[in-house]
Amino acid sequence: MSTNRFNSIVIVGGGTAGWVSACILAKHLESKNPKSVQVTVIESPDIPTVGVGEGTWPTMRRTLESIGVDETAFIKQCQATFKQGTRFIGWNNSQERQTYYNLFSSIYDPGEFNLAPYWSLGLAGEARSYAESVSAQGIACDQFLAPKKITSKSYEALQSYAYHLDAGLFADFLKNHATTHLGVTHLPANVQDVLLDEQGSIEAVSTDEYGEVSGDLFIDCTGFRSLLLGDALGVGFKELNDTLFNDRAIAMQVPYPDADSEIECVTLSTAQPAGWIWDIGLQNRRGVGHVYSSRYMDDDTAEGLLRDYVGDGSKELSTRNIKMKVGCRKQFWRKNCVAIGLSAAFMEPLEASAIFLVEAAANMVADLFPRNNDAMHHAQEKFNKSFEFRWDRTVDFIKLHYVLSPRSDSEFWRDNKHSASIPASLQKSLKAWANHPVSKYDFSDINEPFPHESYQYILHGMGFAQNLGNIDSYPNVMQAKKCFENVQKATQFLCDELPTHRDLINRVHQYGFQNL
Ligand code: FAD
Repeated sequence: MSTNRFNSIVIVGGGTAGWVSACILAKHLESKNPKSVQVTVIESPDIPTVGVGEGTWPTMRRTLESIGVDETAFIKQCQATFKQGTRFIGWNNSQERQTYYNLFSSIYDPGEFNLAPYWSLGLAGEARSYAESVSAQGIACDQFLAPKKITSKSYEALQSYAYHLDAGLFADFLKNHATTHLGVTHLPANVQDVLLDEQGSIEAVSTDEYGEVSGDLFIDCTGFRSLLLGDALGVGFKELNDTLFNDRAIAMQVPYPDADSEIECVTLSTAQPAGWIWDIGLQNRRGVGHVYSSRYMDDDTAEGLLRDYVGDGSKELSTRNIKMKVGCRKQFWRKNCVAIGLSAAFMEPLEASAIFLVEAAANMVADLFPRNNDAMHHAQEKFNKSFEFRWDRTVDFIKLHYVLSPRSDSEFWRDNKHSASIPASLQKSLKAWANHPVSKYDFSDINEPFPHESYQYILHGMGFAQNLGNIDSYPNVMQAKKCFENVQKATQFLCDELPTHRDLINRVHQYGFQNL
């Protein structure tokens, strides 16, 4: 490692984490300029990526735009579709297929005017769900409507959106963008050894094709292996399967019945006896998979339930089994090595938070990039603190769904509610929210991954009981009534305006969006 100015970053691993990080770092650090910090990605041609990550967050729009990606090209080449949230099915009851939403848009920003307590006190009308009382998006999604029109500009939206995408195509797309437009060097090679200097920092990695590759900062994007941070630097792993039980997945690619089939606008998450099934609509197929706990269900039963869910024709479809290491590293940045992606942590993909946390990590490394060795300690300290917090909050938010679920039809659901399995921080929040409306001040840390809006969708969608006192103690009753009426009008307007999801995708292929 050089003692003076830092001018090289070596990323090992070319999955979603490796290529998203490469693009963000190279753009931020102007790697196109040969005098600036140079970014190299070493990617094994032999070890496949996990590549299941098909759901993103709305932050991905900003990420793609900021690295200079054309939205139309991205949608065309990655089989991408528009994601507007998640519809949870059967989480409240194993018999009735009752649903609730976690959506990306609300008509009123709850940080400005929080409608939730007025909804809880019955002002929106007894029969109206929380989601339909505050947002147009759930009703639009029930009708397969897109979040924007073909006349909307690239990355702009009438209703906030993220993407569903084919992870393999996405990594290839970013690789091409990074090497063609952002000055990133790609070395297809296997890292065979990691060489440390006298201080225990990484000096170089040795590869089968290019010999030793040295660098100033190393990013470990080697997936569950964690070759650099875990193996070479010996950073331990904190298991979390006593809190989040799901440690297996079976994935399947399901063709549409025909080319005009409607495309869902949300991820579907259908609860099962020992886990849940995801169902994601891409342009050309659905990505469907069963996430479950091996402690409560064997692989054959899990596969049977997945095939039952897919129904006709599922017998002919092949499956892929994935073992998941649930937990996180005890440190995310040690010496001159940062882990991003699965090498840092993995929690079940219930809220599709992993790629978002990759974006967040790469942005933070880019912003805090240590220009020399003296700056390393500061960056490391800030990064570790931030990601410890972000992962803890991610555990809380995922666990919230299981804790609130009234399901008790299997040991899996019952055990999920044992207090020993619930983080103290979540127990504390739930105790507080039992007696006051969820407030923006509950989420004032800038590193908070899930906004208070998301907590409200889950808490109120799952019927969390609150003792909020008397309506007379709330000051804005008339205004709230008006807002609920406005949400209904906005919903009608948007449903009249918006094209279907399939229609918009076809038009993107035909005409494309206007660039900003
Ligand atoms: P990987 O995809 O495993 O990539 C590792 C890379 O390291 C590969 O390129 C490999 O070749 C390389 N490598 C390994 N060893 C070496 C070596 N010795 N030399 C050189 N290269 C090496 N996330 C979401 O945000 N949304 C979702 O909806 C979502 N769904 C998921 C569903 C499931 C079932 C699972 C398991 C994960 C899901 N995720 C989701 C998580 C998401 O898939 C990952 O976070 C994301 O793909 C990043 O993976 P990665 O790049 O860290 O690792």
